[in-house]
Amino acid sequence: MRNTDLLQRSLKAVWHPCTQMKQHAGADALPLIPIARGEGLWLYDFDGNRYLDGVSSWWVNLFGHANPRINAALRDQLETLEHVILAGFTQQPVVELSERLAALTDNTLGHCFFASDGASATEIALKMSFHSWRNRGRSEKNSFLCLEGGYHGETVGALAVTDVAIFKDAYAPLVRAAATVPSPDARRARDGENAADVARRAAAALAAHLEQHHQHIAALIVEPLIQCASGMAMYDPEYLLLARALCDRYEVHLICDEIAVGCGRSGTFFAHEQAQIGPDFLCVSKGISGGYLPLSIVLTTNDVYAAFYDDATARGFLHSHSYTGNALACRAALATLDIFAEDDVIAANRVLAAKLGQALAPLADHPQVRHLRQRGMIAAFDVDTDDPGFSRRFYRAALDREVLLRPIGNTVYFMPPYVISAEQCEFLVDRAGQALKAALKR
Ligand SMILES: *Cc1c(COP(=O)(O)O)cnc(C)c1O
Repeated sequence: MRNTDLLQRSLKAVWHPCTQMKQHAGADALPLIPIARGEGLWLYDFDGNRYLDGVSSWWVNLFGHANPRINAALRDQLETLEHVILAGFTQQPVVELSERLAALTDNTLGHCFFASDGASATEIALKMSFHSWRNRGRSEKNSFLCLEGGYHGETVGALAVTDVAIFKDAYAPLVRAAATVPSPDARRARDGENAADVARRAAAALAAHLEQHHQHIAALIVEPLIQCASGMAMYDPEYLLLARALCDRYEVHLICDEIAVGCGRSGTFFAHEQAQIGPDFLCVSKGISGGYLPLSIVLTTNDVYAAFYDDATARGFLHSHSYTGNALACRAALATLDIFAEDDVIAANRVLAAKLGQALAPLADHPQVRHLRQRGMIAAFDVDTDDPGFSRRFYRAALDREVLLRPIGNTVYFMPPYVISAEQCEFLVDRAGQALKAALKR
């Protein structure tokens, strides 16, 4: 096998995601890289080239590719039970995972509902919130509230609470768009304001909106601390604290979408822990299976669960997906949680995040770098350029230098697996600096 064979066949048969396929053709074609195998931080192609996975393969991989411990757990599970229908049946991995996730919320979110991807988790949280109000005689609570620049997935229902124009605009006629309130993005600070001031200003706008519309709002959905997909917008935890209080006051559910920021990414296992609040719904996916298998979970409270518990079938939550609670995916998640416990990953990540921050610090002096920022194992900066081709140019320049980094517009971000070494942090940042120089030279 050579790179070129697989590349040509892929372009013919595979419709790649998040891609204008024509950009893979022509003289200035965007590269399409066949990957032969992965090991730790590295991805290897068929021609002997390697790439350091600086984006955790779309934010899912936590402990490296082909991780021996997750592999061993999956091999064992394969020999035991691959999958069984979860309606009317249960199995050990799904029970154990539900118990362990609930325990991670101190059992305040004691009921786990399973699906296979993030967008479905969003859909489930939205449907459950509305339906629970409806079951309680509050069916006028039939709309949702989201933040400017929020991202919660790309199915038609999830797009309703997603505010990223490039993903949403074409489908606007299909989508019953939720109202948006200002983002607490710390970059919005006015002269003399700090991040907490921006958070309080955004919370005041939320208060004003809720005061007027709360009768019709079932839930507010947020990405705690970091709005990832719209460009790693980071904000002060105080916003979550204020939003929680407002949701309580106006009888609106709070949905924390931790699909990207959960599983240790923000510095705590769940990002909302940093505000010392609890949501009514918690969406988990991406890293939870270690980056191995599609899995998502919506955790919720006794109160929401009780709204469905009834003699009438139609008052139940009848939502389902074919692969819901897949035993292999749950087992991968259990192996992932084992690594968190055995290696004290949250503590280890504090050291690692500091290393990443140290490596990145000199970039703050670059004349075109703005808003160098970091929370836990996510770091980002914005590049001051009006070149619309910057992100493509940077992506290519980075690949040419053995690192996989995919800027979002003018935002370059780093979201490596947690097994990156201090040397690899320096390598990643050094190559990113070179790529920046190359991308800005026209
Ligand atoms: C990725 C993401 C989703 C969607 O998950 P998919 O598995 O891609 O459908 C939803 N919310 C957030 C915050 C995400 O980062």
